[in-house]
Amino acid sequence: MYYGAIEAGGTKFVCAISNDQLEVIERISIPTTTPHETLNQVFTFFDQFSLKSIGIGTFGPIDVNKNSETYGFVTSTPKPGWSHFNFLGAVKERFNVPIAWTTDVNAAAYGEYQKGNAKDNKSCLYLTVGTGIGGGAIINGEILEGFGHPEMGHILVRPHENDSYRGKCPYHHNCLEGLASGPAIEGRYGKKGFELETEDEVWELEAYYLAQALVDYTVILRPEKIILGGGVMKQKQLFPLIRNEFAKIMNSYLPTPDLNQYIVSPGLGDNAGIIGCLLLGSAQK
Ligand code: ADP
Ligand code: ZN
Repeated sequence: MYYGAIEAGGTKFVCAISNDQLEVIERISIPTTTPHETLNQVFTFFDQFSLKSIGIGTFGPIDVNKNSETYGFVTSTPKPGWSHFNFLGAVKERFNVPIAWTTDVNAAAYGEYQKGNAKDNKSCLYLTVGTGIGGGAIINGEILEGFGHPEMGHILVRPHENDSYRGKCPYHHNCLEGLASGPAIEGRYGKKGFELETEDEVWELEAYYLAQALVDYTVILRPEKIILGGGVMKQKQLFPLIRNEFAKIMNSYLPTPDLNQYIVSPGLGDNAGIIGCLLLGSAQK
């Protein structure tokens, strides 16, 4: 018997199974196309194994309210075919096992909390900076949710006086995601992030926006650790720039852990999400 995990991203789905120790035994990556096509491949993968549970961490927004009629649905995504799709329902129909359902970043936050860089903490926040920006928080072992799940990428930030880029978010233009996601960098400079590695001003501006967001999350939640993942954070030079900018904005107002320990990369690397999914699935009754 195995534990199953689905980390559903806008560009790819990663599916994995693990043994009882939650060690990944097999994994596959499937490009995200239509729900039907993508899930057929997911099902074919899991059909090979006898499963105890499945944990799903998905791109969103999604409905996580168990009392809602559309619990388990992807809600308002621009991704063709996925908007108002009953994702959890489709997996439930196929596999009669306990299934955990949450966002990709909640799953990653949970993975880091249990087994990664926040394993000695009581709280943490995980932010991904990739195609989109999203965040999840764990407080005393619980995933933070209220009316819905957080959408931390869509907070408003102060535009830099020298930044005339309009912003990429179709809903808010210059929210954090609109100004600091991978596609925003590409939209502003006409090149992909990895091609701009040596352009200092690109990363200074990026840090200017991300640090504002981290100050906001800090004053609202006071987490013990902030973990930054996603493709854009592969630019490791961002970490000291963000910490510097964070200190400037915070201006000694609040104590935080040492910033070198507070603003960090994922201890589980790119596996944070999948391990979080395995853990959440295995904890389902
Ligand atoms: P996703 O968000 O789709 O799950 P990623 O977290 O890998 O996937 O994010 C993809 C985005 O991150 C793209 O916009 C890409 O240009 C950017 N990105 C990926 N790798 C790098 C890199 N090494 N440096 C800067 N930007 C990167
Ligand atoms: Zn937005």
